[in-house]
Amino acid sequence: MIPISRPLLGEEEVEEVKRVLLSGYLAHGPEVEAFEEEFSRFLGGRVCAAAVSSGTAALYLAYVATGLQRGKRLLTTPFTFMATASPAVQLGAEVLFADIDPETFCLSTEAVKEVLEREEIDLLVPVDLYGQATYLDDFEALSRKYGFRIVEDACQAHGALWKMRPAGTFGDVGVFSFYPTKNMTTGEGGMVVSSDEELLEEVRTLRNQGQRGRYEYAALGYNFRMTSIAAAIGRVQLKKLTTFNEMRRRRAEIYRELLDDVDGIVLPKEVKGAHHVYHQFTVRVKGGLRERLIEHLKQHGVGYGVYYPRLLYDYQPLKRFAPPGDLPEARRASLEVLSLPVHPGVSEHDVRKIAEIIKSFIRERG
Ligand SMILES: *Cc1c(COP(=O)(O)O)cnc(C)c1O
Repeated sequence: MIPISRPLLGEEEVEEVKRVLLSGYLAHGPEVEAFEEEFSRFLGGRVCAAAVSSGTAALYLAYVATGLQRGKRLLTTPFTFMATASPAVQLGAEVLFADIDPETFCLSTEAVKEVLEREEIDLLVPVDLYGQATYLDDFEALSRKYGFRIVEDACQAHGALWKMRPAGTFGDVGVFSFYPTKNMTTGEGGMVVSSDEELLEEVRTLRNQGQRGRYEYAALGYNFRMTSIAAAIGRVQLKKLTTFNEMRRRRAEIYRELLDDVDGIVLPKEVKGAHHVYHQFTVRVKGGLRERLIEHLKQHGVGYGVYYPRLLYDYQPLKRFAPPGDLPEARRASLEVLSLPVHPGVSEHDVRKIAEIIKSFIRERG
């Protein structure tokens, strides 16, 4: 079975974890600070970084630090992972949804503009879905015009670029996840990045029980700290990230060559100005054939993913935020998308094999 994702860890990570285990610093310590420093440098040094225990914790703290609370309103895409929205609801905020751009699967600038003409919002959360960051400068311009803040959910876009600017550095705050399926991992982990020193200081305080100094509780905080063990893994993974991403791009290119003119399969678009890092290689399967193609892939031992089969407001905890009249592009995407293995752990040979398996399915059907 070719898995849809698999973390790629080697001897180097093992050695570094061993070093940290023997150092005596297991929780927050110099290792975490070194990881933060290196991650900030990876993003070009324009933002500082605060490591936390998960991408979800990073989103939660980013929302608190940008003032989200009861009575405030967040606008985002319904075609994303639950953690983009759940912290906002837990904070008592109202969630609004705008439709996606069918080309990028990310929030549509036009749809956001339409919402802004009739609604006031406090926070916009664009998601760099599948590893592609697009049109984020347009959202920044809108935020200046309408006076809302932006948290960029870059949990799937480590190393992606939009107009030469790294994903995660747009808006007020950027958020990353290091879950094992992401482009780089720390086991569990996350990062909050921002050029706003004060805001990042608040994130650091909140992740550590609200402490400014030892036993100086400035706020009621949380324990959202990253462990030194996780940071040690992250430092090695960060060094490999660019190579990993190039491998993902190479695999995407092979799919493109082999599936380019296959009827009923629409390939993902890399928008001009974007450097896509293919967290997922996600095609559209037209003609209502997705479930049958999935059966065919299963029979041939090919792993796949459907990200995401339903929209966030389809789920009971978010039903009350459903927009009147549904969002047609997001709905269509949820019914058509299919992600194929594109991670560095799948060989180029296997990618070719998967492409052939898809071609043979289309041939048999026709
Ligand atoms: C993975 C992910 C998260 C959550 O990250 P965790 O580390 O799993 O908590 C949030 N948003 C998006 C878009 C993600 O892909």
